[in-house]
Amino acid sequence: MKNKNFIPQKERDARSKLTKLVNYYPFVKGGVVTSGRKCGKPQCKCTTGEKHLSTYLSIKHEGKRKMVCVPKQFEKDIHSWVKTYKDIMNSIDIISDYHINRLIKLKNTKQND
Ligand SMILES: [Zn+2]
Repeated sequence: MKNKNFIPQKERDARSKLTKLVNYYPFVKGGVVTSGRKCGKPQCKCTTGEKHLSTYLSIKHEGKRKMVCVPKQFEKDIHSWVKTYKDIMNSIDIISDYHINRLIKLKNTKQND
């Protein structure tokens, strides 16, 4: 018989990854968006359609979607922060799924008693 406190390897890995990510890596909930803009200078190439590309972090703040412009030197960091957030949520989903399955099994066991 399996120990009641048995934690499957997949869940243990998810918990360990989650702990590491939350404790040691920056993360942000949002999406990275690249968008073209016109600078306003009358002779610039952007007036003929070749817009300047800017990177934005799309976030939800106080219930509203906001676009925060990301300076060039932080673009790589922001991509990494967004990915870390997704990895954290993925680990949480794995752990949550495990507990959903556990609840279903418990329910079935009780019903068959
Ligand atoms: Zn321009």
